[in-house]
Amino acid sequence: MARIFAVTNQKGGVGKTTTCVNLSASLAATKRKILMVDLDPQGNATMGSGIDKNEVERSVYDVLTKKATIEDVIVRSEAAGFDVLPANGDVTAAEVELLNEIGREHRLRLALNKVRDNYDFILIDCPPSLNMLTVNALSASDSVIIPMQCEYYALEGLAALMNTIEQIRETINPSLEIEGILRTMYDPRNSLTRDVSSQLHEYFGDQVYGSVIPRNIRLAEAPSYGLPALKYDKGSKGALSYLALAGEVVRKTKAKAKEKADALV
Ligand code: ADP
Ligand code: MG
Repeated sequence: MARIFAVTNQKGGVGKTTTCVNLSASLAATKRKILMVDLDPQGNATMGSGIDKNEVERSVYDVLTKKATIEDVIVRSEAAGFDVLPANGDVTAAEVELLNEIGREHRLRLALNKVRDNYDFILIDCPPSLNMLTVNALSASDSVIIPMQCEYYALEGLAALMNTIEQIRETINPSLEIEGILRTMYDPRNSLTRDVSSQLHEYFGDQVYGSVIPRNIRLAEAPSYGLPALKYDKGSKGALSYLALAGEVVRKTKAKAKEKADALV
């Protein structure tokens, strides 16, 4: 049964979408079965995985509003090597349409339950705000992966996000965990980066991934070819850093599964 990760941070431009696409591709490269869910109406994760958001007949909007079953909306990206539940501009309407529906926070979770056994990991790309779509992602997930840039206000933003996660635990998803904090667009020559990085370790300890994602032009170029960096330039620093992250994610998942099994005996 798949572990489900929400890739989230209410701040835009921190590398959520880049992480979702490239971590999905790297996990798929280890022969694991992956579903990437795009919940951002901008559809960048969809496009970056080689699925044209303007060509798809149905999107995650149809799933959230029960106009179609999830099995009918998932598409395979041969180019990227994983399955995609696509998003496009239609998704903005979901928020309004769900406003008066009972259980609207759980629509995604119920849909993913139907396909969860088909995958090893499901990664959800969240929009850069705490709206009904993000709440659906947090309701559906086992844990959150938080990409962040090591810059001046990053820790403040992170405190707000931790607050949100706590509220979600108290209300709709008590078992939601922090999977890991990922430093993106990382530049070790920058002293502010190093300062923020050491503060992160101080507050969050081993919740901070050992892997960092450097600033790398290939990661920024690859989406315009509809490819993850691994398929666009597999030797690039960007591609290699996401492969390393995938290794860490797999190891962490195995360790958690063992912890749970040990607790049962
Ligand atoms: P978010 O989804 O959080 O808004 P994106 O993943 O879309 O962030 O990244 C914002 C911009 O930065 C995009 O243009 C993306 O291509 C670029 N980018 C993201 N990560 C990197 C990186 N490690 N190196 C270079 N450019 C990056
Ligand atoms: Mg994004």
